[in-house]
Amino acid sequence: MQKENTLFDYIIIGAGAAGLMLAEAMGRDVFFRDKSILVLDKDAKKINDRTWCFWEKGPGHFDDIVHQTWDHIYFSGQRFSERFPIAPYSYKMIKGIDFYTSYFSRISSFPNIIFSQEKVSKIQEGKDVVRVITEKKEYRGKQVFNSIFDYRMATGQKKYPVLQQHFLGWFLRTTRPIFDVNQATYMDFSVPQQGNTRFIYVLPFSETEALVEYTLFSEDLLPEEDYKDALVDYLKSKLKSPDFEIMETEKGNIPMTCYNFSEHNTSKIYHIGTAGGWAKPSTGYTFMSTSKKVPILLEFLKTGKPLNTFRFKNRFWYYDLLFLDVLKDNNAIGFKVFEALFKNRTPQQVFKFLDEETNIWEDLGNIWGSPKIPFTKALLKRLF
Ligand SMILES: Cc1cc2nc3c(=O)[nH]c(=O)nc-3n(C[C@H](O)[C@H](O)[C@H](O)COP(=O)(O)OP(=O)(O)OC[C@H]3O[C@@H](n4cnc5c(N)ncnc54)[C@H](O)[C@@H]3O)c2cc1C
Repeated sequence: MQKENTLFDYIIIGAGAAGLMLAEAMGRDVFFRDKSILVLDKDAKKINDRTWCFWEKGPGHFDDIVHQTWDHIYFSGQRFSERFPIAPYSYKMIKGIDFYTSYFSRISSFPNIIFSQEKVSKIQEGKDVVRVITEKKEYRGKQVFNSIFDYRMATGQKKYPVLQQHFLGWFLRTTRPIFDVNQATYMDFSVPQQGNTRFIYVLPFSETEALVEYTLFSEDLLPEEDYKDALVDYLKSKLKSPDFEIMETEKGNIPMTCYNFSEHNTSKIYHIGTAGGWAKPSTGYTFMSTSKKVPILLEFLKTGKPLNTFRFKNRFWYYDLLFLDVLKDNNAIGFKVFEALFKNRTPQQVFKFLDEETNIWEDLGNIWGSPKIPFTKALLKRLF
């Protein structure tokens, strides 16, 4: 095993959303100019392995790589549906490949940051340094940021339910013009729920092209055919478009849990991104929250304190916990929670709440319409 002589100030494992945002932010910040930073990833990040969507007020940090924006969203429950204007927000989409290309190019302009494509097999923490062992080399770092996520990080405990947001999506082209290019379907729960929380997500790029995704919030993945059958049904019955061509496929699963990922942190190793619990437990949205957490983490690093003394936790964690407790015991009622939310509140209020920017009175307004019995039961179970 070849040993690298440099003792890096920071080693970032994973050049995904969190790793690249962290490396790029360090590169721009003068405080880190004399610090040596190594970024490792098993992949070259040259393919479009995902798309990220998020909402944002006005212009934003990622606008140069935003692929599409929508200024209306459509929500459908089982008894209620509506098209909403979302100004001053817009719903934005970034292609993974555009993000990777842009961020790798920015990082390569910082002389103190190097990237190496290597698979990390072991991380060993010593008294003064952390050894990061790959299939090719052994590196030493003073501090390590790890974004390798493994479900087993969270499933080895029973205190917090671990659900998944799992989905299969098709980038497709229809023969007839059927999509409204100004409107993203945020959630369409009009599909059969079959005892789970199931919905469709539609992101149109033109009148004939869109990403259509079948998504569940539940414990177990489905056989691949079930996602496909549901997408075909939706295209036939709801969109009245049985003829379409699939251009690309996207699938994934995002953990939905309030498990305390920071338990894996130490004074010199800090978990970031999904591995750090940065995926919002109730929705799976992670991209924008990662971009908001990175600058806060950077400021913390400047204090020189042990990494495991830094935590993100607020009262929204408790709301997410109750929601997941309810979904774990009663997976079929997810649509009722979102239906109540969109019936009683504006999307702007919902976005603010999901961004964790509301005050306690606004929170009560958002929570009020939710099914009372299962939430009260979940609350009592947690309290006693
Ligand atoms: C298909 C998909 C779509 C999503 N869409 C959205 C969305 O629309 N909006 C949103 O907010 N969130 C979305 N998410 C959730 C979340 O934003 C993403 O998962 C995001 O990429 C998480 O960032 P991360 O850095 O934690 O993980 P990743 O981006 O997955 O980065 C982890 C990196 O670690 C590398 N790695 C893994 N193992 C090793 C190893 N042993 N050695 C070296 N490198 C390793 C991987 O190659 C990867 O590059 C989506 C997730 C998926 C899977």
